Amino acid sequence: MNAALLSLKNISMEYSNFIAVDDLNLDIKKGEFISLMGPSGCGKSTTLRMMAGLDNPTSGALYLDGESQLEVPTEKRGMPMVWQNFALFPFLNVQKNIEFPLKMQGVPSEARSKKAAEWIERMGLTEFAKRNISQLSGGQRQRVALARALVTEPRILLLDEPLSALDSHLRIKMQTELVRLHKELGITFIYVTHSQSEAFTMSDRVVIMNQGKVQQIGTPKQIYRAPNNAFVAEFIGMNNLIS
Ligand code: ADP
Ligand code: MG
Repeated sequence: MNAALLSLKNISMEYSNFIAVDDLNLDIKKGEFISLMGPSGCGKSTTLRMMAGLDNPTSGALYLDGESQLEVPTEKRGMPMVWQNFALFPFLNVQKNIEFPLKMQGVPSEARSKKAAEWIERMGLTEFAKRNISQLSGGQRQRVALARALVTEPRILLLDEPLSALDSHLRIKMQTELVRLHKELGITFIYVTHSQSEAFTMSDRVVIMNQGKVQQIGTPKQIYRAPNNAFVAEFIGMNNLIS
């Protein structure tokens, strides 16, 4: 089997007297769609932020392709993040938003617009390319956010509850789009959600967390067949089965 693409070893994040992430170990494979799932406050976003380099753990190690990342700044890690609130630039139009990361990388203007145009087409945004972000629907904004994250062709995409701001109909549509995009691109998706159905329908593997600790890591099938403990059983709605 392949060695891990991204490896978290004994990662902890401690705030003054509170442990947000407690001794987390996780190996993520190349091309995998993996979800971090658990109730609000269990440490999902903190874990994702440490992967992205937005926060550094108080202890532990993080390896990308076997190389330690803790000294590597966010922009050099090449793991863009898609946020729940999309975090688009309101003063730039769709095309300029998508070009922005390329501009930061120093890609010349012509190459930038060519690359952005590819993603605008791929995400079905052609007719909105010159629009301002405020003139877009939630689903359209989410597509812009995805395009902006993917335009640099990262190996890993981090997604923090990216669909929570959408209504339920759109959420299900976007779930299908994300799964398709993941298949087509073959890159690693690391997906944070508090929604069991979202995690279980989309992911190859799911990491279930509670109070900063990993409760179980496995395929949806493995977790359903053999929940590790009462918390997992209850969280995935199988408490009746256990009792
Ligand atoms: P999740 O994304 O699973 O909802 P988070 O990772 O955002 O949870 O937060 C985990 C815990 O860490 C929460 O209890 C939160 O209040 C706490 N936390 C997050 N950031 C800080 C901070 N900067 N200072 C103190 N506590 C924090
Ligand atoms: Mg969160």
